Amino acid sequence: MTERLYYHDPYSVEFEAEIVEHTTHEGKAALVLERTAFYPTSGGQPFDTGSLSGARVLEVVDTDDGRILHVVDRAPQGSRVRGTIDWDRRFDHMQQHTGQHVLSAAFDRFLTARTESFHLGAEYSTIDLDRELSAAEIARAETEANRVVWEDRPVTIRFAGPEEVAKLPLRKESRREGTLRLIDVEDFDLSACGGTHVARTGAIGIIAVAATERFRGGSRVTFLCGGRALNGYRLLREAVGGSVRALSVLPAELPAAIERLQADGRETRRQIKEFQVKLAAQEADALAAAAEDLGSLRLVAAVLPGWDASGLKAIAARIAERAGHAAVLLGDPAPAAIVIARGTNVAVDAGAVLKALLARHGGKGGGRPEMAQGGGITSAAADVLQSARDLLTAKA
Ligand SMILES: [Zn+2]
Repeated sequence: MTERLYYHDPYSVEFEAEIVEHTTHEGKAALVLERTAFYPTSGGQPFDTGSLSGARVLEVVDTDDGRILHVVDRAPQGSRVRGTIDWDRRFDHMQQHTGQHVLSAAFDRFLTARTESFHLGAEYSTIDLDRELSAAEIARAETEANRVVWEDRPVTIRFAGPEEVAKLPLRKESRREGTLRLIDVEDFDLSACGGTHVARTGAIGIIAVAATERFRGGSRVTFLCGGRALNGYRLLREAVGGSVRALSVLPAELPAAIERLQADGRETRRQIKEFQVKLAAQEADALAAAAEDLGSLRLVAAVLPGWDASGLKAIAARIAERAGHAAVLLGDPAPAAIVIARGTNVAVDAGAVLKALLARHGGKGGGRPEMAQGGGITSAAADVLQSARDLLTAKA
């Protein structure tokens, strides 16, 4: 059994200890100490990092038999080590974890929503509640929890045996047997917990709910405490500040302003589409008027800069509405799109012509006898169009 210094004093940052065992964990060197201030991953709270006589502590693992493994980047010399935990990381965990006790207790007391699990993540923490909650209910619990933060109530650690525990109003029944470690937020919450907590609720700073979602028949509440809440506020300030400057509106008007922009965008795209259809028809009529006479058919072979594949298709289809006409249209710039179309009374297989063209000039594509399209052509446009003329003359 490793003596857990954080059980009694979560503010102890430095300590000295005998090494009782050199071992390995997943291929890395690991140390077991007689006592430690390092918190191992458990109860939803991640492990501490830090150093042991100059060696980096990469991970801290709680074993089933009560030992704590310190996974290190190298084994330190000697039989004693001086340990130092990374206080910023630990204090962040203490803020989030104590905030969770207070927020869970608020949900429990004011809304009879029980906490089923807690996870302290690298950026956010979550609690899963056993029922769905409205936005107003979430806000109420958040307000009550922050009231307790600002009252700066003591958070004390005590230990109690099974008989005493049976008489205590624990928020949640503990599955552990024997002596329990209890975290007491004065006159607000009493919970069995092995984690690290701040000494007074004021040190939580603030508890801010970041998001709520339905989860397994209940709710998942994502929240930020203390320093994380400040960082989250800064992120929002940058994002909202940039947005209100760009749109010249107040923060509260942002959602409506974005909806208006989206509607404008949809209307603009619809109008562009309409103009494209009209323009494609005009382009097709002008091209058809100047079609080359190949004897058996009238051919429009042209490069049309600025038109995408769907535009080329619309123009080609309109040309092919004319009796005896065929169209070979190339986009620009390279690699270009290509569309081949022919009228119903033209004895040419557009798909076969495209296949032959692609074999000569590269690119990909395919189609039916009436219409075929491809892309990725890199040969000079004049060469591609000449090949098309040759192929169509031979087929015709
Ligand atoms: Zn706790």
